[in-house]
Amino acid sequence: MEKDLMCAFCGRKKKETSIGIYICDICINIHNTKVFNKKITVNINNKKPKDIKSFLDQYVIDQEEAKKTLSVAVYNHYKRISYHDKEVEIEKSNILMIGNTGIGKTLLARSISKFLDIPFVIVDATGLTEAGYVGEDVESILTHLLQSANFNIYKAEQGIVFIDEIDKISRKVDNPSITRDVSGEGVQQALLKILEGSIVNVPPQGGRKHPEQKMITINTKNILFIASGAFEGLEKIIANRLNMSHLGYKQNIPKKVKTENILNMVISHDLRTFGLIPELIGRLPIITYLHPLNKISMKRILLEPKNSLIKQYKNLFKMDGITLEITDDGIEEIVNKALSLGLGARGLRTLCEYIFKDFMFEIDSLNNFLKLDKYIISKKINNIFK
Ligand code: ADP
Repeated sequence: MEKDLMCAFCGRKKKETSIGIYICDICINIHNTKVFNKKITVNINNKKPKDIKSFLDQYVIDQEEAKKTLSVAVYNHYKRISYHDKEVEIEKSNILMIGNTGIGKTLLARSISKFLDIPFVIVDATGLTEAGYVGEDVESILTHLLQSANFNIYKAEQGIVFIDEIDKISRKVDNPSITRDVSGEGVQQALLKILEGSIVNVPPQGGRKHPEQKMITINTKNILFIASGAFEGLEKIIANRLNMSHLGYKQNIPKKVKTENILNMVISHDLRTFGLIPELIGRLPIITYLHPLNKISMKRILLEPKNSLIKQYKNLFKMDGITLEITDDGIEEIVNKALSLGLGARGLRTLCEYIFKDFMFEIDSLNNFLKLDKYIISKKINNIFK
């Protein structure tokens, strides 16, 4: 019966695919790339570090050092893939980004993948567990990447994986009640294999729900891994190593050192003290630190990026024939409130949604009955926040 037809490669039912008769679309994609050996290499001509940085500048405010570090690292990574020199093999350099929440870590990585037009996937390290335990296996990362590459293996093999909250899988050995650290050190151990570059069998549909599915082989050698985390408390570890107080005076070092300046001095030993295993640190050789956002940066984020929040809202209102204006003190109000939330720039979106929600809901009546063609956001919005 037609409803029972299955893909000859993976066993998916016809109803689960868009064209499946004897082979489903997913398998066509996978086998196409294999059969015709369509090797894809990210084109880095005209995409030198300065070009990458200029692109990032359009979307990401501040974070100059991180932008520079990433531009060079990403450029070198794809150069390494493009040019093979048997004499001097260039080693893979995955990246670690350290910094508070909502300050542009994910945005940086996502923007780079957009610029280079490569598959990109974000995974939360806290959801991963060692194989065989409740939670997602580390291999599931590659399933997601494969899906984001529309099952084109070669594209997936040159994609970017962003592992968020890497600091949350630090070692928990100090806790004597934990005999086996399946979501901490266990995950770090499991990550080693794919970070370094290995051949991994990946279930295309992910999970352990489909034991009959055919595995797909992925080589992780050319996948760029960018790990990120806030590493709360790391500054104390660095300060201790430097024998200084992270907030001020200690012993005979009279200089006040700010937290962010201390974090700039991070070395792999500190990450080890924090709870990352040395092998994992070794596979993340490029470390960059992102600064907390100040008032000026937050204002710029509202207004300047190519797709800034205010530009987006202006466009939304324009589609309903209304000009949106925001006064300087209105912007100041939003920024001050966002800073008090401590969510970085993520707070800006939450607040804007809050401010505009009722207005957008009523936009029809305002348009038709009040004949409103301009809406001004001023300092008065602080009433909304009360
Ligand atoms: P995280 O540092 O936690 O990864 P994100 O990069 O996801 O944070 O930032 C959350 C949102 O805040 C982004 O989608 C973006 O809209 C905004 N944002 C954060 N930092 C910046 C920045 N430096 N420049 C422009 N927008 C930013």
